[in-house]
Amino acid sequence: QSVIVAIDGPSGTGKSSTSKAVAAKLGLRYLDTGAQYRAITWWMLSHGVDTDDPAAVASAAGKPVIVSGTDPDHPTITVDGLDAAGPIRTQEVTAKVSAVSAVPEVRTLITDLQRSIAAAAADGIVVEGRDIGTTVLPDADLKVFLTASPEARAARRSGELKGSDVTATREALIRRDAADSSRKTSPLAKAGDAVEVDTTELSLSQVIECVVTLVEE
Ligand code: C5P
Repeated sequence: QSVIVAIDGPSGTGKSSTSKAVAAKLGLRYLDTGAQYRAITWWMLSHGVDTDDPAAVASAAGKPVIVSGTDPDHPTITVDGLDAAGPIRTQEVTAKVSAVSAVPEVRTLITDLQRSIAAAAADGIVVEGRDIGTTVLPDADLKVFLTASPEARAARRSGELKGSDVTATREALIRRDAADSSRKTSPLAKAGDAVEVDTTELSLSQVIECVVTLVEE
């Protein structure tokens, strides 16, 4: 039977590592929805769209063709056929992604894409993001909301990024979470029926084990 798992939470809580590992262990597909918002942001930046102008972003939103590969061992993302995995992780994209993803036309398009990918996953899928349990897949079989202290989140992100210092990372991360939590259309939020897991004191393998147990219950 097909099982749908929604994993939401702010950045630096281990969402991606956890979601990929849970999907691989359980033989499910995997979708990184943040990568899709980053991909559309990268396309806007490389096509001269002013990402601070919501009307300009809205009218361009339908142009890029975003394709996500959902193998948890080799997730991929392309935009207009170009490999976007590297470019979507730059600081330039990270700085602009909250503004782009707050535009309702962008959310409608990406949400439709996410639902069609989930519907096509015959054996089930783990979908990670900010609004999966509340908006994209409100009927998910399991909803998990990951949290961690700001210090733990910044330290994890700094470990992932090259040459960035923890204080700057912490400030940028707090700014992005505040923007994601306060936008009008489907903000970062815990669904009423989500299980909250505080990962501050847990190792990655403990978090994975915890979510696998929740799926199997
Ligand atoms: O997860 P990641 O940090 O790659 O997400 C990048 C950004 O994409 C988030 O800060 C947020 O602005 C946006 N996003 C979103 N809804 C999602 C996933 C990501 O708005 N479901």
